[in-house]
Amino acid sequence: MIPFNKPFLTGKETFYIEDAVKSGKISGNGKYTQLCQKFFEERYHFKKCLLTTSCTDALEMAAILLNIKEDDEVIMPSYTFVSTANAFVLRGAKIIFADSRADHPNIDETRIEALITDKTKAIVVVHYAGVACEMDTIMDIAKRHNLFVVEDAAQAIDNFYIGKNGSQPLGSIGHLSAFSFHETKNIISGEGGMLAINDPQFCDRAEILWEKGTNRSAFFKGEVDKYGWVDVGSSFLPSEIIAAFLWAQLENLDKIQDQRKMHWNNYKEKLADWAKSNNILLPFVPEYSTNNAHMFYLICESEDQRSAIIGKLKAENIMAVFHYISLHESAFYKDKHDGRFLENTQKFTDRLLRLPLYYELDTEVVVNQFLQFESAKAN
Ligand SMILES: *Cc1c(COP(=O)(O)O)cnc(C)c1O
Repeated sequence: MIPFNKPFLTGKETFYIEDAVKSGKISGNGKYTQLCQKFFEERYHFKKCLLTTSCTDALEMAAILLNIKEDDEVIMPSYTFVSTANAFVLRGAKIIFADSRADHPNIDETRIEALITDKTKAIVVVHYAGVACEMDTIMDIAKRHNLFVVEDAAQAIDNFYIGKNGSQPLGSIGHLSAFSFHETKNIISGEGGMLAINDPQFCDRAEILWEKGTNRSAFFKGEVDKYGWVDVGSSFLPSEIIAAFLWAQLENLDKIQDQRKMHWNNYKEKLADWAKSNNILLPFVPEYSTNNAHMFYLICESEDQRSAIIGKLKAENIMAVFHYISLHESAFYKDKHDGRFLENTQKFTDRLLRLPLYYELDTEVVVNQFLQFESAKAN
């Protein structure tokens, strides 16, 4: 069977976990947490990083840091995971869903400005499949309207936006960014995430929220002589056991990325003719984005064609899966949405199909299956 995803282990995970356990420090913010945070701060120039128990948690921290309140409006794509929206809905915000681009599930940057009102507080972008949104345009809109930008970079580790400032790591451009280390992402810790803070005004308060609303971090750094309750907060930090696992992955980041890119390029090259003759589109990476090979997908001609391909692959024990169901049409939000039809979002909801992509995948098996469909059709 070829599953859709298979978590890759570098081999050192249990070694570092054992080290963490034996050290006697297994709660959060210990040696491995600091190693991981420092890795990200140095490699991608994020101002400050805090590991969290999920990307969902990091997004919730972002919503608290931005002081999102009842009736504030937050603009984001509809074609995304529920957590992107939930983090802001939890604070009482109204979500204003923007359509995707015609050529990519990312938010259509040309449609953001028309959605801004005097209630708008933030724009949340999602780098779908790890591919960069058009950040120069988005940051410019935010600046002119005095809005914050949050990057949902759950899928975007080790990827870059190429714009007027040259090549910038995704997650380093918005005021705040959220990453995921869920087992379906490129770099994993089972469940796990990280908040990256680029606007320095949020650094101190982020640490307080992270430590249950106390100034415990400042106390351990010797900045205050006792710690107590100073703000709202929650327990957002993961244990050292999770951070130790993540460290084993980070040590192998380049190796993991290279392997995923090899698979991605192999799919792209070998499926090109097949896709063309079946009116199927392969993933598009705009010139302003590099590719971190988080996901390989097809845009089918129709929903029926997608169902047929899923069925045929399943019969051969290959698991391909569709993705998000537009949030503006979800059971929870459809009566809160303002009724706009989001054409491109609908297209990706109905027609996008994700192929298996993981470190140990044998892409040839999947590719050959597609090519056999072709010869079956010709006969
Ligand atoms: C995976 C994902 C999340 C959620 O990540 P968790 O770590 O599971 O909370 C949020 N947004 C996007 C775009 C994702 O792909």
